[in-house]
Amino acid sequence: MCEIIDGKLLAKKIRKELKEEVNTLKKDGINPKLAVIMVGNNPASSVYVRNKSKACEKVGIEFEEFLFDENETEEKLLETIEKLNNDDSIHGILLQSPLPKHININKAFNSISPKKDVDGFHPVNVGKLSIGEDSFISCTPYGIVKMFEEYNIETEGKNAVILGRSNIVGKPMIQCMLNKNATVTVCHSKTKNIEEITRKADIIIAAIGKPKFVKENMVKDGAVIIDVGINRMDDGSICGDVDFENVSKKASYITPVPGGVGPMTIAMLLNNVVKAAKK
Ligand code: NAP
Repeated sequence: MCEIIDGKLLAKKIRKELKEEVNTLKKDGINPKLAVIMVGNNPASSVYVRNKSKACEKVGIEFEEFLFDENETEEKLLETIEKLNNDDSIHGILLQSPLPKHININKAFNSISPKKDVDGFHPVNVGKLSIGEDSFISCTPYGIVKMFEEYNIETEGKNAVILGRSNIVGKPMIQCMLNKNATVTVCHSKTKNIEEITRKADIIIAAIGKPKFVKENMVKDGAVIIDVGINRMDDGSICGDVDFENVSKKASYITPVPGGVGPMTIAMLLNNVVKAAKK
């Protein structure tokens, strides 16, 4: 019997705990605050920013948006980030991607102070994660780790297969699973015979952005399936990277899309802002 991992419910529980922490911080005169910078008006980004703003509001984290025109210069963006880095009332800075092509993405992200890098993208935080030092961890992998912990899913000595090697999900996920003593295999677009690899997996974490890529015949009985994918379909619906209907018949645990990894990602962002404020 497959158990569905309820990311929405878990995120609600985390938000409740964070709200209490925020109240305590406020009593001590600290008002946790997140600054979000968006360049251009990508409709999907606007939705993400709105969701983050609502989530902040729910736990009492202050939220300030910095919206720039699509043609804004890199210089102006870097100047704003520098100002926020030096503003003691701001604890977390988030730069919403995608950014327009004329802006050097690495330069922009790397200019955020590692102490305020609540997305966990800065090389300093990436490096700290890889050597097991306390750091801000990228929110999606961090949310998945929380799911394993909350559902008491054993990772030690398990074969974990990660599909995708992006800087924001796949790569930090490798470190997170290593830290949890799993044996990790990573697949990407050049990997041959993926289904042979996934069939041996105790845990599959799919983060490739291909609707229903993981099929029933790629999964062994009793595997734990984590679906990171968010694919917008022509009919407006959202679909994961896993064929949920059929794979859930074989899995021991599975995350739905929506309502799985997505809400946990936002909850861990809030967690990172509170962590930054505490520091
Ligand atoms: P990304 O930067 O586009 O990276 C995709 C990765 O998948 C790449 O490493 C790519 O390999 C690999 N890949 C693509 N096609 C493949 C194939 N046919 N077989 C094996 N590997 C393949 O994507 P991302 O930012 O990591 O996001 C992945 C998905 O997760 C997207 O649907 C995104 O919307 C979603 N997402 C969800 C959340 C959440 O909170 N739920 C957060 C972030 C992202 P190469 O490296 O070889 O190109």
